[in-house]
Amino acid sequence: MSEKPIRRQSRQRAVVLEELQAVSSHPTARELYDRVRKRLPKISLGTVYRNLEQLCGSGEVCRLPADGAEARFDADTQPHDHVRCVRCGRLADLPGTPTTLTLETLDETAGFEIIGYRLEYLGLCAACRKPDNPVP
Ligand SMILES: [Zn+2]
Ligand SMILES: [Zn+2]
Repeated sequence: MSEKPIRRQSRQRAVVLEELQAVSSHPTARELYDRVRKRLPKISLGTVYRNLEQLCGSGEVCRLPADGAEARFDADTQPHDHVRCVRCGRLADLPGTPTTLTLETLDETAGFEIIGYRLEYLGLCAACRKPDNPVP
């Protein structure tokens, strides 16, 4: 095998990571593909998916639980919580987490060894709250 395909692969992976790091919108693979394509016009959606899988596997990006919708990706791998618009699916970061249960309490009550948690708030984003855009 020549070196060229490997260089191209690592370049694609680097661009996928850079473009994900450039946004805080938690894009879907498809949304990210639209950004990456501006820099690498020949890249395919499948390649973007594959690179995202690899980046998830190596812990460089996070896949956010999709709940039936398309998975979204986050380049911020520090633990943090999200608020999701129930109408358009927009996802924003939250600066902090008010939580009344300590991990120790959970440990005792549920009989699980807790290794982490994920919390998602639900809401309506500013665009979806506009009067000309009423909630159905
Ligand atoms: Zn919305
Ligand atoms: Zn996030």
